[in-house]
Amino acid sequence: MKIARIDLDGTERWGVIDDDVIRTSDSDIPLAELAAAQLDRSVPRSDTRLLAPVDVTSKVLCVGLNYRDHILEMGRELPSHPVLFTRFPDSLVGPEEPLVLPRASEEYDYEGELAIVIGRHGRAIAEENTLDHVLGYTLLNDGSLRDFQRHTIRFTAGKNFEASGAIGPWIVTRDEVGLLSERRIRTRVNGEVRQESDLGQFVFDVSRLVSYISTWTPLRPGDIIATGTPAGVGASFDPPKWLRAGDRVEIDVDGIGTLANPVVAEGN
Ligand code: MG
Repeated sequence: MKIARIDLDGTERWGVIDDDVIRTSDSDIPLAELAAAQLDRSVPRSDTRLLAPVDVTSKVLCVGLNYRDHILEMGRELPSHPVLFTRFPDSLVGPEEPLVLPRASEEYDYEGELAIVIGRHGRAIAEENTLDHVLGYTLLNDGSLRDFQRHTIRFTAGKNFEASGAIGPWIVTRDEVGLLSERRIRTRVNGEVRQESDLGQFVFDVSRLVSYISTWTPLRPGDIIATGTPAGVGASFDPPKWLRAGDRVEIDVDGIGTLANPVVAEGN
């Protein structure tokens, strides 16, 4: 099942994508209840705008340094525990919405990532039970302002500029994704492949991440865990390949979809 967040007559709703239509409801059905709900309204896909599959109450947790090839290119050592930071939901735009290149930074970078979407509440979840709490997966561009990221030892500012990242285009439920280790992830900028890796490279896999994070915070339906980025970020090139206004960034994982966004300069 593919689940989308849509704009329905000016209100946000969850819906299920069924080929050319999206089944949804006039009432606001929570994400965790969507699969069992009566979806009595059908909207042609062409009449609907897809939004970021996240809402303002979602926790967005991100994992740094989780692919072996990216750890090597950054000259770092394999971490013994997941390196975690958070993003505010308003730092993320939806599919095809513009990523904003801020005036304050010269070093705007992309990071293509697989993101876990939580479907069931849990705290201190044992590793063997974690998949019961995973609704599915989406894609996330953990857009980063490298200069701000390096101002201090904390990532917060460099990872949270308004509209600097993206999420979507939809959530694909876990049963349809199958074995992650057999999937490839790619990031293209203006059609040029910059990142290409397989999801079998994770230092900490989905079960380990969900279990570790739920040790200290409750995970709720709609919460997001971005699983880290592979080698090939703009900062790894010499000279670096920073994003510019007019660029187009596309992230895809086989069987999940493509998250595409144009880059625009910050307005006045
Ligand atoms: Mg990242």
